[in-house]
Amino acid sequence: MYKQTCTNLLSLSPVEVNKWLDSFDSVITDCDGVLWVYGNVIPGSPETINYLKGMGKSIYFCTNNSTKTRKELLMKGIDLGFNITEEGIIATAHAAASYLKNRNFDKRVYIIGSPGIAQELDAVAIKHTGVGPDVMKAPLGEFMAKHLTVEPDIGAVVVGFDEHFSFPKMTKAASYLSDPKCLFIATNTDERFPMPGMVVPGSGSFVNAIRTCAEREPIVIGKPNPAICQSLIKQKKIIPSRTLMIGDRANTDILLGYNCGFQTLLVGTGIHSMNDVAQWRNSKNPEDKKLIPDMYIPKLGDLLPAIIDSITHGRY
Ligand SMILES: [Mg+2]
Repeated sequence: MYKQTCTNLLSLSPVEVNKWLDSFDSVITDCDGVLWVYGNVIPGSPETINYLKGMGKSIYFCTNNSTKTRKELLMKGIDLGFNITEEGIIATAHAAASYLKNRNFDKRVYIIGSPGIAQELDAVAIKHTGVGPDVMKAPLGEFMAKHLTVEPDIGAVVVGFDEHFSFPKMTKAASYLSDPKCLFIATNTDERFPMPGMVVPGSGSFVNAIRTCAEREPIVIGKPNPAICQSLIKQKKIIPSRTLMIGDRANTDILLGYNCGFQTLLVGTGIHSMNDVAQWRNSKNPEDKKLIPDMYIPKLGDLLPAIIDSITHGRY
């Protein structure tokens, strides 16, 4: 009905909001920039999500954040006031481990990433090299000759967010990936994190560094790859046309919605704004058109009063 019109939800009448609410049964929401920013909840988001759940909508959190396990994300969600279960959490560390498990992967994984990836691999009994600092121990020539060791039996390189990203790690990853049989898996390609006054590199920055020196393209596990939602669709837990995808970043969240045939809602509390949407509207690049959401709302918490108003005044 509102397909890729970027309609401001707050401009709809109560009857229109009511009809829109009736048009979906499931909600898949991004986390960072929609529900919270770092450790801080975005005011109104828990109440809105919990209200939608109370209306009978099934709720899924879908995050490209590869630093946390599903259990850790569950605890964070509960601590911040969200009524959510572990089955309702879709996260890239878990999805990367599942991807390898489903392929009966039996070698070891070289990880550029955080403990979340190591723990999710442990949970499905896949061996790996561990995480943490791997630094230059000597000047380059001496380092390459004496200190650089590559390990045997590495069958995959998984790249996610790694605050200890380093030259030795790049060198090892690219060396493992020179074997074409070695899988190259990226948890996600988010370029950066929202943070006032600073730019924090996201996993995509590390992935692109490895991609450049390995001269290979990764398999991307996270949004916007529709594979991240395939099991929900296959198991008929969600019907794509009756699913609402909520996100703050268009090239992951809204594009995932486009790729899966979901309805989409952009919120203005994170990466992309109405100004960005205006640029994509005017762009000659057809790929940019895919980034235009169906709906827009300044923040998720603004939805709650609109829902309550629609229930009170919006019978149709
Ligand atoms: Mg986000």
